[in-house]
Amino acid sequence: MPPIMGTGGVTAAQALVEFQAILENATIGIMFSRNRAVVQANPLCAQMFGYRYDEFIGLSGVELYPTPEDYAAAGRAGGPILSAGQAYEAETPMRRKDGSLFWCRQSAKSIDPLHPHAGSIWIMEDVTEDRLMRDALEQSTAELGAIFDAALIGITVLRERRIVRCNPRFEELLGYAPGQLAGKSIRVAYPTDAAFAAMAGIYETMKDGSPHRREESLQRRDGSEFWARISGRTLDPESPAAGSLWLIEDISAEREAADRLRAALAEQEMIFDNAAVGILFVRNRFVQRCNTRFEEIFGWPAGELVGRSTRVFFANEDEYLGLGARAYDVILRRRVYIGEQEVIRKDGSHFWVRVTGRRVGNLQGNSFDVIWIFEDVTERRHAQEELLRARDELEVRVVERTQELATANAQLQGEIYERMQAEQRIWHMAHHDALTGLPNRALLLDRLGQALAQGDRNANNIAVMFLDLDRFKSINDTLGHHIGDELLKHVADRLRGVVRAVDTVSRLGGDEFVAVRIEGHELRATPSIGISVYPDDGAEVYTLMKNADTAMYHAKEAGRNNFQFFMPRMNAAAERFFKLEHRLRGAVEAGQLRLHYQPLVDLQSASVCGMEALVRWLDPEHGLISPGEFIPVAEETGLILPIGEWVLTEALRQNRRWQEEGRPALPVSVNLSPRQFRQGNLVETVSAILAETGQPAALLELEITESSLMHDMDETLDKLKALSAMGVRLAIDDFGTGYSSLAYLKRFPVHKLKVDQSFVRDLNEDKDDAAIVSAIIGMAKSLGLDILAEGVETEAQLAALIEYGCGKFQGYYFSRPLAPEQADALFRPAVLN
Ligand code: C2E
Ligand code: MG
Ligand code: MG
Repeated sequence: MPPIMGTGGVTAAQALVEFQAILENATIGIMFSRNRAVVQANPLCAQMFGYRYDEFIGLSGVELYPTPEDYAAAGRAGGPILSAGQAYEAETPMRRKDGSLFWCRQSAKSIDPLHPHAGSIWIMEDVTEDRLMRDALEQSTAELGAIFDAALIGITVLRERRIVRCNPRFEELLGYAPGQLAGKSIRVAYPTDAAFAAMAGIYETMKDGSPHRREESLQRRDGSEFWARISGRTLDPESPAAGSLWLIEDISAEREAADRLRAALAEQEMIFDNAAVGILFVRNRFVQRCNTRFEEIFGWPAGELVGRSTRVFFANEDEYLGLGARAYDVILRRRVYIGEQEVIRKDGSHFWVRVTGRRVGNLQGNSFDVIWIFEDVTERRHAQEELLRARDELEVRVVERTQELATANAQLQGEIYERMQAEQRIWHMAHHDALTGLPNRALLLDRLGQALAQGDRNANNIAVMFLDLDRFKSINDTLGHHIGDELLKHVADRLRGVVRAVDTVSRLGGDEFVAVRIEGHELRATPSIGISVYPDDGAEVYTLMKNADTAMYHAKEAGRNNFQFFMPRMNAAAERFFKLEHRLRGAVEAGQLRLHYQPLVDLQSASVCGMEALVRWLDPEHGLISPGEFIPVAEETGLILPIGEWVLTEALRQNRRWQEEGRPALPVSVNLSPRQFRQGNLVETVSAILAETGQPAALLELEITESSLMHDMDETLDKLKALSAMGVRLAIDDFGTGYSSLAYLKRFPVHKLKVDQSFVRDLNEDKDDAAIVSAIIGMAKSLGLDILAEGVETEAQLAALIEYGCGKFQGYYFSRPLAPEQADALFRPAVLN
């Protein structure tokens, strides 16, 4: 076996010993092989493979490999290398004697490459431990790499403030694409150069391995910033050049939340401190905290209450325990306790608070927190008490005043109602006719005015109809006002019934029309109607009224019981009437009146038995005017009174003159119109004139009409009695045309009936008239009254009248009325001769 090492002049034996010592003490396995078997080895090598030394020497090489295939493969791999004289090195599993495997690092070299059978030397090393360590390291490195890559935290390794490595999250945080940051200065993460420079010093503080931590705003690639929590450490304090490791977290959201929390907290703190109510935190009835207002309310210096028992707020133990009993029961059930409580300030003074308490947080064993809110209600309670007192007083006063007011109001209402009623009555009275309730002249004029205004707008015609009841006066005079009034009411009702609602029926005073039965009297009333139409007959109210009135008079003139439309010429007639009235007024004084006389004839004695005085008006302009024309005017205007007095006086004077002339003393008949008869001082006037003219009453006969008699029965009777007692004779003129009651006739002291000439006129032709005349004559006789027929014009009439039993006459047949100068003809009419 050739020496492995140079002999250096040592002997071979000695060299062998030394060599043997090396083999035996070597810390690695050494083995010689030849012909695929172990030739020589050191003990460590045998031990490495689990063999005794003697067993190991001579062992076939294949035994050392896990399988024969591994042995063959190793031969194939190593053979050529060894043959080439090179060192063959391998790390491969080898098999121990017990079959277990171990990692073995081998290096082999051929002893003589030119002679392969010379064998090879193997250095064997058990590297199982190394190998395991290496595997573990590789795995942990791989794991760390995975963590590094997947970490949600940014990780970077800096060296000389340059990025050596970084994980994807780090790149993402700073807004870079993968791989873009490696090699770049960490300056890119700082918003400013100053911020970057400011951090240069920290590496010094990290030298000893202590960590660095801070929070700072970092900049992204796009310039935007984010809050980062940064922690770093040197990789190896021993070798600063190894660099440092940095962890970066984005804490923007965290910071924002913290900011919000801080703000909310600050806000609450502010509210707490500035609250207008006292706030107290209590744990187990000990003060934890309170606000300024609470200290103010309870009069404690700032901060002095913390840690004290809430007992200090109560005047005594009972109060303290009382509130506890009341409130904690409620509070423990998580309800809110609300109450009012008398408490004390630090100085011991009492006052009232309103307390609200509720539990906060959860029970921790028996301990729990309560938040109390206090309001000082002392003033409010005082005010409330004041208010209650005031309200009670007020209530009493209100009740009193209400009663007073109610009474006053009721009175006032009553007064207002009465006044309204009175006003309405007054208004109604002022605008309505009292008898019929119809609108009066004032209201009519008003309504007509409105109608005209409306007529103008609507281009309507408006008619004004003037109604006058024919001979209403005679109804009034014969049956009395009472009956006349009833008639008017009925007429009013009927008129109301026939017009439309928009029409107005008005009573201007006077009379109307219609046929009705009143109190057993059959009254025949006929109307005379005058009509004027707007706008043709007048543009305004007064003209229309006047013209309708005028037309009505024409209806009367035209024989009554008819209607006439107004025509302009009617005004001329009306004018005549007014002129007539005017002239008539002066006629009496001007001495234009004359009396004519007509004899009354007694056929039996064939002599004149009286004279009737008939008035005439000798007008210088119009000549002689008959009484039929002017007596109605005089009657209407009242002129009849002076005229009547004049007639009476003149008739008596004339009669005296005739007597003085030696004519026979005959009674003179004087007509009295109804108005004259109604005159209050009639009797006195008559007796005065009789006295004045010196004529005996027996030579005066007064002719009155039926209507005069039937007017006011009692008064009439008195007058008739007085006149009769005086000796004046009384005759009923125009008998048969009016309404007279036989019963009354019997009671009245009248002496004569003068049958109206209308019956006499047609006596020979009209059987009815004849019958009436005959009846009147018969009745007069049975009543013991004188009877005289008027208007006898013919012999035939006279003959008939005589036949019916009439003995006295008056008429043209005997004589027309004549002037007194024709006394001869008067006293002895031709017929009688
Ligand atoms: P009377 O009292 O019935 O008078 C008779 C009227 O008949 C008179 O008309 C007379 O002229 C008229 N007469 C007499 N005989 C006949 C005849 O045969 N045929 C016709 N057709 N007529 C005859 P006169 O004078 O025109 O008077 C008319 C009426 O005027 C009177 O009717 C009387 O009611 C009234 N009257 C006349 N004078 C007065 C007077 O002084 N005072 C009053 N209050 N009334 C008077
Ligand atoms: Mg007469
Ligand atoms: Mg007559």
